[in-house]
Amino acid sequence: MPPRTTQFKSNKVNTTLVVDASKSSSSPIVTYTIPSSSSSSTNIPSIDLTNLQSTPSPTPLRILIIGCGVGGLSAAIGLSLTGHKVSIYETVNSIKEVGAGIQIAPNASRILERFGVLEELKKEGIMLERNSLRRWEDDGEIGWVGLMPAVGKKYNAPLMVVHRADLQRILLHRAISLGVKIYTSSQIIAISPDFSNPSIKLWNGEWITGDLVIAADGIKSFVRGEIARRKGYKDSTVSTGDAAYRVLIDEERMRGNEKMLKLLRGDVGVRWMGPGGHIMAYPLRSHKLYNMVLIHPIRPHQVDNESWTSPGTKAEMLKQYSGWNSTVRQLLSYVPDDGEVMEWTLNSHSPLPSWVEGRFVLMGDACHPMLPYVAQGAANAIEDAGVLTMALAMVSSTERIEDALKVYEVIRKERGEAIQASARDTQRALHFADGREQEERDRRIRESTEAARKGSEEGKRNPDLWADQQWQEFMWGVDVMRETVERWDEITSHRSR
Ligand SMILES: Cc1cc2nc3c(=O)[nH]c(=O)nc-3n(C[C@H](O)[C@H](O)[C@H](O)COP(=O)(O)OP(=O)(O)OC[C@H]3O[C@@H](n4cnc5c(N)ncnc54)[C@H](O)[C@@H]3O)c2cc1C
Repeated sequence: MPPRTTQFKSNKVNTTLVVDASKSSSSPIVTYTIPSSSSSSTNIPSIDLTNLQSTPSPTPLRILIIGCGVGGLSAAIGLSLTGHKVSIYETVNSIKEVGAGIQIAPNASRILERFGVLEELKKEGIMLERNSLRRWEDDGEIGWVGLMPAVGKKYNAPLMVVHRADLQRILLHRAISLGVKIYTSSQIIAISPDFSNPSIKLWNGEWITGDLVIAADGIKSFVRGEIARRKGYKDSTVSTGDAAYRVLIDEERMRGNEKMLKLLRGDVGVRWMGPGGHIMAYPLRSHKLYNMVLIHPIRPHQVDNESWTSPGTKAEMLKQYSGWNSTVRQLLSYVPDDGEVMEWTLNSHSPLPSWVEGRFVLMGDACHPMLPYVAQGAANAIEDAGVLTMALAMVSSTERIEDALKVYEVIRKERGEAIQASARDTQRALHFADGREQEERDRRIRESTEAARKGSEEGKRNPDLWADQQWQEFMWGVDVMRETVERWDEITSHRSR
């Protein structure tokens, strides 16, 4: 799918936009006022995006969220800020430190700022200055893409990498401080037979009912499976042919090797591109950890396991990368023999017919699991949270919940699925075997880097989508919360016709 443009057509809908940039240069106050004469939106409040608490929803709802991951917590924060009563039900008995590096791109960081967690997150995250695109065989730099601070200025929101555990902890504390009730050891094992009845059943047999259920229950979503089963469609996945290793290397292990320490202490992300795979690497946690995700072809007879916590072996990993350059080999040699090597298979999930059934709505990996080629898993779950926050803040009575969910689906589904599908383009572009296509790609990356350095137009296009400015504009430049308010009338009036 070609990248969409990101201009907002605010004059097309019955919305006035007031931007008071004098309040702060970095975060302008944006106030939307929807005239009460508007056909379908009587009683809709004006919403100050930089102070969500200042305009509580006219209809406080009791919202049940399944899953206390990045998506569920972000939604809980936004919805609490706008006055709803939110409870989260989570399977695990305690929220532990799991995962590794996650990218927070501007499309997510502008939402996290409105949710009041960006400043805290900045203390934990690393703002990469550039991403270096390198060759698998000899570590030679083919090109590079400038990131911070330019990207932050351009999109008025920073780009950073952060440990998933830090992001989750910060979101958790914010949610608790806003009064969100979090129930751990609370696996949901059933949902009501009728989708218009928002009831969920806990493992102990207890049923809980709210006004709305948000399923933020991750890539193996129980609710997605239930909807598919009852609606009679197949919730299918297709193997990408790839699997990924994930390792974290401690600073201690690198002691004495200045070249490796330079990678760890610098603000540069690296993408090594090779035949059938690529590696993404960057520093984490105040430059004390080096994060590597290594994508490679699935081995024959490899078990299909889509879990972030499934163990792999160091020996297999070293074998896989034995022909790659000495920097990669050196880095991998630092993984302790009994250390944590995670390995999981990469499947693409087919788009779902709908993300909404009655009073049940899917969000995050439950409806658009992102492959690591795109680095947008957390960011897109946060976008979902931003849109649900705005849409449900516009609801003037419980009868209008369906309108809000429709708006959410219109704003998010096509966009989320386009970003999801872009994984295939990235996979193709980054995994060429040495030869004509690889040489052509490398030539284009070199030219793009040079043109970008000179500030010329040709520098905007790059075979690596993540580095392509047109794609960045689509991924990072779109403000989905703003779009939700601006398009509310247009989308809901279509429905009432
Ligand atoms: C353990 C783990 C480690 C990860 N590590 C990384 C990483 O290193 N890098 C990266 O980019 N992404 C990682 N991810 C994925 C990343 O967090 C998501 O892609 C993204 O943040 C979207 O989040 P989500 O909230 O939709 O799903 P998730 O973050 O997966 O959260 C889903 C939550 O729902 C809970 N849940 C599932 N089923 C039920 C049920 N029936 N009842 C109650 N609760 C339920 C799960 O326990 C989980 O806490 C990881 C995810 C997990 C679960």
